[in-house]
Amino acid sequence: MAQDKFLPNGAPSYERVQVVNDQKKFTQDFTKQITKWGLGDAGFNYDLVAVFGSQSTGKSTLLNRLFGTDFDVMDETRRQQTTKGIWMCRGKNMNVLVMDVEGTDGRERGEDQDFERKSALFSLASSEVLIVNMWEHQVGLYQGANMGLLKTVFEVNLALFGKPAADGTHQKTLLLFVIRDHLGTTPMENLVATLTSDMEKIWDSISKPTELRDRQLKDYFDLSFTTLSHKLLRPDVFESDIKRLRGRFTDKARDDYVFQPSYHKRIPADGVAFYMEGIWEKVQSNKDLDLPTQQELLAQFRCDEISAQALAEFNEQSKSQRKPVESGRVVEDLGKMMRSWWTTALARYDHNASRYHQGVYQRKRADLISVMESTLSPLFVGQLKNLHKSCLVSFKREMLEGMRGESYSFAEIVSGARSRFEQSFLTGAKELLIRGVDWSYEEEYSLFQEEIQLVADQCRKDETKKMVNVIERNFKRSISEPVEIELMRPTPDMWDKVLTAFRRTLVKSEGAYLTKAKSFNCTEDENVHALATLRRRAWQVLRTKIDEQTADVGILGKLRTHFEERFRYDEAGIPRVWRSDDDIDGAFKGAKDKTLALIPIYSKIKPVDTSLEYSLPSGASDLTGETEEFDFESTLTIFSETKALDISNRFRRDADAYYVEAKRSTVSGIAQ
Ligand code: GDP
Ligand code: MG
Repeated sequence: MAQDKFLPNGAPSYERVQVVNDQKKFTQDFTKQITKWGLGDAGFNYDLVAVFGSQSTGKSTLLNRLFGTDFDVMDETRRQQTTKGIWMCRGKNMNVLVMDVEGTDGRERGEDQDFERKSALFSLASSEVLIVNMWEHQVGLYQGANMGLLKTVFEVNLALFGKPAADGTHQKTLLLFVIRDHLGTTPMENLVATLTSDMEKIWDSISKPTELRDRQLKDYFDLSFTTLSHKLLRPDVFESDIKRLRGRFTDKARDDYVFQPSYHKRIPADGVAFYMEGIWEKVQSNKDLDLPTQQELLAQFRCDEISAQALAEFNEQSKSQRKPVESGRVVEDLGKMMRSWWTTALARYDHNASRYHQGVYQRKRADLISVMESTLSPLFVGQLKNLHKSCLVSFKREMLEGMRGESYSFAEIVSGARSRFEQSFLTGAKELLIRGVDWSYEEEYSLFQEEIQLVADQCRKDETKKMVNVIERNFKRSISEPVEIELMRPTPDMWDKVLTAFRRTLVKSEGAYLTKAKSFNCTEDENVHALATLRRRAWQVLRTKIDEQTADVGILGKLRTHFEERFRYDEAGIPRVWRSDDDIDGAFKGAKDKTLALIPIYSKIKPVDTSLEYSLPSGASDLTGETEEFDFESTLTIFSETKALDISNRFRRDADAYYVEAKRSTVSGIAQ
């Protein structure tokens, strides 16, 4: 800022302060120092600049020249002692807070690198303008220009401080590249192009939080470039370059004025100390910046290599069994093979890797195990599936074979086959397990058991159907004769006798069914359906038999026989020889009426004893589960009224013929 307008009492102090000391402690005197600098009441009216770059590239020299500060400069001739830490000072006659980082010149790894990373991140996170200082010959050199460090710092900065504000915008920072000892041989445009593309490359390569994955370099950074001449070779040009550059920090009117409002962190000056201490805390506690020790680095490298070697052979081996398993085969001794590949790989890793850093060795070992596990997992899963399939097929085959014979117990066949193949599934599944790998076959096993049950159920249903058919045939055989006999000698209680025979036979059949069903382990429901089917079929068998016996020829024959027995034979069963004085008409009428009286009896199944009346529910579902319409009532009628009339007419004609024949016989008897 141009002029100090609010210095409270006299001239401000330009004393520098060590904000962070070599113990990485943040100073408690910072606020006091800001007041001493005369900036306590500056509000937002101040700016903050920091510098980034490798050791001894003239950073402190540059800051001192630009801002009139007095940061330590390494004097080659005197090798004066510099004090490690993060230093701040107020720019002379400017409301600018200038930050300089002082490392040690020793370049060993470890402690110094840790400080280097943390201080660089701190500078980037807290400043509005970060001067990136480098020699001209460092441009384009990734190593030399500390680009690796910049990458790490970008990455952690994005993770820690990269979240957008409520309005979606990001806090922006200006990266001002200052190219030192510029000789002019490489044109400025080329340097700018190289550095810009380097920055883009670095940005693309950093790992970003998922929600910031698509953010561009330009969302967080503006890039600006300038060169300075060689300080020793061309001191006067160097001086004018410095003056020109200083203008960019002081002259708000210039187009290339660096402290643009958009870079300001909007922290009032009296809160800066607290704010920066917060940033330092965050930087300090961040684990991503912790450097692994040399020993760990080596262990990581070697353990990775050893693990990869062990895996190479392991993968080759496991690949050899992939096709067979995928093709559906149950590969014999697969578990034994897997265990052997497993232990070999692990033993090889352990033998070579265990002498490296233990933490790394163990971590990489766990990684190796999890890779091997996921490599073998498809083999395990595939083999289980194949085992399931093949055991199920064998189970089915054994069931069918067992049921081929004549006498067998279905229940025994099922339980025998079931326990045998459940056992062989379990044996096959257990064979696959590898100690220390958390694999489970429980789910596949219970699926397998379910399917076994389904197959057994289906077999049982088929068997039940077969059995009901056999019982039906037996029933038919048994009922045939009683029906024939009873229908042949009609009496008023003819149907009582038929139904009694039917009942007796049906009870036997039901008994036969229930005995068999017990050994099948049929369910209650299945029994209900099977018995309903049996009853209906039995009834249909009976009806068919009755129909057969009462078809036209049959019924007329029966009536004729009945009539003949009464007309042509006397009570003692002796054939009659009619004499002229015999009452032929009376005998004829009596026999005819008695016979005609049979027709209504034949017409309908109607027992005298109503307790014998049989009934079947209509529309009961049968074994197959299908319900067919079945009107039981109508099956009780043997002849319709028209049919009965037709039969009686035809019978009358037959009877009339007998009458005429009888009459004739007496006439011819007289003639003799
Ligand atoms: P820092 O470690 O980056 O802060 O570097 P210093 O500012 O302490 O300077 C280190 C050495 O480089 C000193 O001997 C300076 O005299 C020298 N030096 C400073 N600026 C320049 C410059 O622009 N060109 C060259 N060639 N040497 C410089
Ligand atoms: Mg320095």
